[in-house]
Amino acid sequence: MLSPLELERYDRQIRLIGVEGQLKLKRSKVLVVGIGGLGSPIALYLAAAGFGNIYLVDSEDVELSNLNRQILHWTEDIGRPKALSASWKLRRFNPEVSVEAIKCRAEEDILRRFIARVDLVMDGLDNWKTRLLVNKVCVELGKPFIHAGIYGLYGQLLVVVPGKTPCLHCLIPKPPPEIRPFPVIGTTPGVMAMLQVTEAIKLITGYGIPALGRLIVYDGYSMTFNELKVARKGDCPVCGSIR
Ligand SMILES: [Zn+2]
Repeated sequence: MLSPLELERYDRQIRLIGVEGQLKLKRSKVLVVGIGGLGSPIALYLAAAGFGNIYLVDSEDVELSNLNRQILHWTEDIGRPKALSASWKLRRFNPEVSVEAIKCRAEEDILRRFIARVDLVMDGLDNWKTRLLVNKVCVELGKPFIHAGIYGLYGQLLVVVPGKTPCLHCLIPKPPPEIRPFPVIGTTPGVMAMLQVTEAIKLITGYGIPALGRLIVYDGYSMTFNELKVARKGDCPVCGSIR
């Protein structure tokens, strides 16, 4: 059931997804791995949309150079764990949703425990090694994974539904070299996070047509969106044997 307050808070989207769709969001459990440039706006919009159970994992503390893009963390949070900074604000932003934030590194055993409990996993990461690990665990446990990656004014989005779509490993079999620190205009993760949450709402509610098997490529430098068809690789060591 939705309370009168929830019916009012979500009124504009209930007009599209219906009360049933809103209830699906309320019952859903979502994990955001990384609460930085991508994870901050992801978490804000998940909370705004009424995803009922939001889990956040991040091991870092807020630094001054994060603040051009990690909009859930403010100047007063410098030195504070991102998990704490994020959960405190999200609970005030929307007290209707439950937020659990854990300060820990995204190691395989921890990821496995969390991913087993949720319906959906959001990529808020900044490195390929961990992304490919999250992709692997999601495929093994049959959980959808909404990947985005950014660099400068460039971003990409891939929605992975195990057994149905190619996985991130089909697209990127080997982690590319990590560039640190990497340059980024703060709006780029914002744009990509909005696409990720849009896809999350669609996957959970069944409203709209999700971007399955399509790599969506954003180029803010020339302001273009493109898409590439991505096929499943039969010999993919991660998803090749999943039917
Ligand atoms: Zn694959």
